[in-house]
Amino acid sequence: MSDTVEKIVIIGSGPAAWSAAIYAARANLNPVVYEGSYTEENRLANNLPMGQLYTTTEIENYPGFPHGDVGAYLKSAIGEERSYMLAPHEEGGSVTGPELVELIRQQAVNFGTRVVSAEIVDLDVSQRPFKLTDNEGETCMAQTIIIATGARANWLGLASEEQFKNRGVSACAVCDGALPRFRNKPLAVIGGGDSAIEEALYLTNFASKVYLIHRRDEFRASKAMAKKAFDNEKIEILFNRVPVEFIGNDTEGLTSLKIKSTVDGQEMTISVTGVFCAIGHTPNTAFLQGKIALTEKRYVELPQAHRMATSVSGIFAAGDCADDYYRQAITSAGTGAMAALEAERFLSAEE
Ligand code: NDP
Repeated sequence: MSDTVEKIVIIGSGPAAWSAAIYAARANLNPVVYEGSYTEENRLANNLPMGQLYTTTEIENYPGFPHGDVGAYLKSAIGEERSYMLAPHEEGGSVTGPELVELIRQQAVNFGTRVVSAEIVDLDVSQRPFKLTDNEGETCMAQTIIIATGARANWLGLASEEQFKNRGVSACAVCDGALPRFRNKPLAVIGGGDSAIEEALYLTNFASKVYLIHRRDEFRASKAMAKKAFDNEKIEILFNRVPVEFIGNDTEGLTSLKIKSTVDGQEMTISVTGVFCAIGHTPNTAFLQGKIALTEKRYVELPQAHRMATSVSGIFAAGDCADDYYRQAITSAGTGAMAALEAERFLSAEE
């Protein structure tokens, strides 16, 4: 264990974590970011460092990144050191999720952020400074902590689903819905909650038709949302059905979806170029259980409106681990900055 007590330790590596680091570094707090670890276990659990953005494609709605020659900019901003991890950028186009998060990371590093490629697995919050333990058994001490561990979309878990992720199978209509492969084509959304209906409604802006596939004969979503789905002519609701296989090929990606009736087991195949899973998210907060207050759905509880302070004085949270509502890169980055500003003010008040 190092004897040094860090002023601020940030846990996570999505837009919230790196934005917090940019603000903390510029405030001379000399932040350390635990970005997670590249273990096989994390790969299989969809929990590798750099967060959910690293698993998406083009990002068209992040302010400051209109279409343009992003490739040239990336080369100059990131350099060779990490750009080798990114797929080559074709001329023009939008910034991609991995590129955007690499850029934010680089900005944090440029201001002196120290990065540890390990995962915090335990926290002792019983006294300050807090003690953090990583997956290699190393410990560190911190006066303040920002938790920005994100969340992961729930997937159905079918083998064929994995095969077509980012090639027709997505878990975020707002992120991916406007991509060319989904325009004027039939699409499907899986789920019966508010998110599923919201995604289906959003996709009607681009799709020729949207199948909304739910495993029961009643929506979990609010009545008002359900009415919008029933009233929309572009949406065809298929109740009592579950996906059984994603079908496609190497050149076209996903081309159709096989679904099964939960009533009589009958199968049918629908032609779709995209399937959006909206079956909920799981926040990455298991290691916080019993340490800081979590909501019923296990998101980090933020007791005060518009503040990032958690139930433990000196610990702040940002991004999707504390947000089951907005879940956007820009909102995560914003709350990361807010958390760092709060941590800075907390430390100054103590001094
Ligand atoms: P929910 O947990 O509310 O809904 C998840 C849906 O996915 C349920 O219908 C569930 O079915 C279905 N589902 C879960 N697992 C599977 C599976 N393995 N196979 C097939 N279907 C599955 O999550 P949401 O993301 O929709 O909503 C989260 C929260 O955010 C809610 O509180 C919601 O109200 C809120 N929200 C509000 C919005 C708004 O007000 N505009 C917009 C979006 C979200 P079943 O019903 O059978 O359990």
